[in-house]
Parts: sequence; structure tokens; C-alpha cells
Amino acid sequence: MTLATMEQKMELTLHQTIEKESHKTYGQVNRMWPDEIPPITKEEAFKAYKLLTRKFGSKKVWSEYYNKWETKKLSIGRRRPRRCWICLSGNCNLLDRGWRRLVHDISHRVYDFRFPQSSRDHNIAQAKIEQEMAQYVIGSGWLEGKLKAKPKEKHKEDVVLLRFSRMLKREKVWERKLKLATSHLKKVKREIKVYKRRHNKVSVN
Ligand SMILES: [Zn+2]
Repeated sequence: MTLATMEQKMELTLHQTIEKESHKTYGQVNRMWPDEIPPITKEEAFKAYKLLTRKFGSKKVWSEYYNKWETKKLSIGRRRPRRCWICLSGNCNLLDRGWRRLVHDISHRVYDFRFPQSSRDHNIAQAKIEQEMAQYVIGSGWLEGKLKAKPKEKHKEDVVLLRFSRMLKREKVWERKLKLATSHLKKVKREIKVYKRRHNKVSVN
């Protein structure tokens, strides 16, 4: 065997090892997800996208200018989620939509950001990022609806203000009723006076 073919063979086995390793990691990622992956709304998808980008999209770069390590952050970029990240009904367990697709896509973006010189293929590093991300999503309870919008709790001051304006309205209502009652009472008293006068006349006669 020549040196060249030996090198070729070694390289091949190294490549095969990498392939095997990344397949193993992808397998681990796939097994990590629960059997029944819940639906994901547009809001959840965008929140998850922003949170995962912020959490995983940072790296240390050496600054020649400042002569020190600096933290670089991956920009959010998008203003809305991809359509394939949203899964409102049907089978949300598939790789190409919903939570799994979302994590897969963001892991690619993070990988490209962290290793800009590297190939864009699927490899161990990318699979590891995806695994870490899936773990984070599952561990954070996002599949159980942690990212769903909560009905807004009314602020205490708002409640006080609301009660105050309600009281002002009620005051007006009662004042009107009081006015009406007073005028009715006046009328009734006047009529009573008239009846009494007549009755007195009658009894006198
Ligand atoms: Zn991919």
C-alpha cells in the first residue's frame, strides 16, 4: 500500500467516524423529543426564535483594535416566524414543521454564526447545537405552553382608577334619583295638604 492510499484510507475512516458520530447525535436529538409534540402558534414560534437566537447566538471574538476578547451577538433579523415553524393542527411530530423544524433551522443559523468558515453540511457540531437547543426547549416547558400569551393581569392602579370613575358615575345617578325623589315628595306633600284642607272643610260643614 502506498502512503497516498494509506492516507486516503485514513481520511475515509475519519470521515466515516464523523458521519457515524453525527448520526448518533441526530438519533439522540430525535429520541429526545416526546412522541406527541404539541402544536405551536405563530406567537410561540416567534418568541422561541428570539429567545433561542439570544441564548445560543453569541460568540467570543478577538478584537485586534481593543486587544481583548469581545462578545458578538447574532442579530434577530426576522420580524416574523417561518411558516413551517407554525403547526396549529395535524401531525406536529414531523421533522419539517413545528417545534422540531424550528429548532433545526435555528441551530443551523447559530452554527453558521459560530463557525462561519465551516461547511454548511450537517455535522457533529451542528448536531450538538441542535441537541442542546432541543434540550433547552423541552426543559423550559415551552412544549407545555410556557410561551403562550397569558391573559394580562390588570394593574393595581388601573383597578383603583376604574373603581373611582365608576363611583363618579354612580354619584350622578343617585343625585338624579334624589332630585326626582325630592320633586315627587314635594308634589305628594302638596296634594296631601290639598286633601287635608278639603277634608277639614268637609268635617267642618
Ligand atoms: Zn438541516
